[in-house]
Amino acid sequence: MAQRTWETIKISYCQRVGKEVSFEAQVVYPDSILPDQPPRILAHRCAYGTQCNLEGTPSCVWSGTNPAYDPFKA
Ligand code: SF4
Repeated sequence: MAQRTWETIKISYCQRVGKEVSFEAQVVYPDSILPDQPPRILAHRCAYGTQCNLEGTPSCVWSGTNPAYDPFKA
């Protein structure tokens, strides 16, 4: 059976929350029956995105509220 997991791929300082946050990718690894297939990335997120949205102000592209700001782009 294929396995899905969230893995940290980058850590950056976010000025909005004033601390380092993790940029994560949801990776699906193939079943051992299909060993030649590479892992696939299904989605990306900021590990702090849910807490950011609770503050009620636009934050960044990874919380889905401000497409003009991407702290992980630099
Ligand atoms: S969701 Fe965006 S603004 Fe909020 S902590 Fe993560 S990178 Fe920073």
